[in-house]
Amino acid sequence: MSERPMSLLPGMTALVTGGTSGIGRATAITLAGRGARVAVAGRDQRRGRQVVADITEAGGTADFFAADLHDEPSARKLAHAAAARFGRIDVLVNNAGIFPFGPTERTTQADFDAVFALNVRVPYFLVAELAPAMARRGHGAIVNVTTAAAAYGAAALGLYGASKAALVLLTKAWAAEYGPHGVRVNAVSPGPTRTEGTAPRGAALDQAAAAGPARRPGTAQEVAEAIVFLASEPASFVHGAVLPVDGGRTAV
Ligand code: NAP
Repeated sequence: MSERPMSLLPGMTALVTGGTSGIGRATAITLAGRGARVAVAGRDQRRGRQVVADITEAGGTADFFAADLHDEPSARKLAHAAAARFGRIDVLVNNAGIFPFGPTERTTQADFDAVFALNVRVPYFLVAELAPAMARRGHGAIVNVTTAAAAYGAAALGLYGASKAALVLLTKAWAAEYGPHGVRVNAVSPGPTRTEGTAPRGAALDQAAAAGPARRPGTAQEVAEAIVFLASEPASFVHGAVLPVDGGRTAV
């Protein structure tokens, strides 16, 4: 039998939010490379179509779902469309997120609401829409993308860290709620990672990473590998875990 990891997710279907960029794109491509049919969600049609083309050219199956995610209807509509396209969704990766940095006193209510809308409300209602069907089938996996900054206090990162800390708690709550029905819910907690989203931070990303044992930022692929592990059968006894993929930043 082939040693290739293609058989890890044979016949499985996955929905990856924020699949048009960075960690989400690497995750969508890696899931597809291991046998999953992937719904790639995002707002940017051009980037979304490119990810689908890359997956298709490599022999995989994917479709792009344009979705501006911010509330319950947008989350449920995406989940419904993806499940309708592939018949069901076995793996949900809650990856789409925004990470504005800034002093508390300069944060507006609109900034506050936008961060919690995408980083907390949308995963909440995607899970509300998809997890019950996974539970009825008796299997499924949900992986939430949080952040190392949810585990410690950092100036100018409070709003972002708080939103992801909520997602960490939800990861554990959903593991308790859906785990007994065969749905594993876990999270990855990346440290500074090079993506389109962090490109504007330039050398500041290297400085943020320098405190960790790895002494460098991670790559999107390194985070994607951890997400795919948690979504796959080799993680069958892993429930409610938050896996740091941060070069050791939160360990020391
Ligand atoms: P990125 O390159 O900025 O990509 C963000 C993704 O989210 C894009 O695909 C974007 O899609 C999607 N998105 C943003 N707003 C959206 C909206 N309103 N509706 C639907 N989709 C939306 O980000 P990244 O660096 O890969 O980060 C991905 C996740 O990892 C985030 O949750 C982030 O908090 C987390 N994280 C990142 C790092 C890091 O250093 N990079 C560290 C820790 C945690 P469109 O542009 O197509 O809409």
